Amino acid sequence: MTVRPPLVGAALWSAVMKAAGDRCECQGACGKKHDPDRTRQQQRCQVSNGDHVSKVGLIALIAVPRDPINEGDFATAARLPAKRLAAMCRPCHDAVLRKIRSATKKLPAGDDLFNVDEYRVAPPTTGAA
Ligand SMILES: [Zn+2]
Ligand SMILES: [Zn+2]
Repeated sequence: MTVRPPLVGAALWSAVMKAAGDRCECQGACGKKHDPDRTRQQQRCQVSNGDHVSKVGLIALIAVPRDPINEGDFATAARLPAKRLAAMCRPCHDAVLRKIRSATKKLPAGDDLFNVDEYRVAPPTTGAA
């Protein structure tokens, strides 16, 4: 079964999928061992374009940055050259994103790139007074 490439960045997506052989390139970044044969070796995820995965449905792999530093890197993936992108299935991608999010949360306070406090607006006082 062929999967229709996304409308935006179709050429880039196709290049990434071709390099990946239409198969998820995750080799444990998501935290899974991907070891269907129980060899206790870290293997590559088995999910390919057009596969059906329970609870996920039809797989259309996502082009993601190979070395994401933070969540924002995912948003700017379309600006990267194909060789800096990897094909990933949604379950792996979601797990990687979760790991990045929780790692970001663990950063000590005040170390954030942006201090959002100055953008906070005090809640409106309800006309009780
Ligand atoms: Zn995968
Ligand atoms: Zn994975």
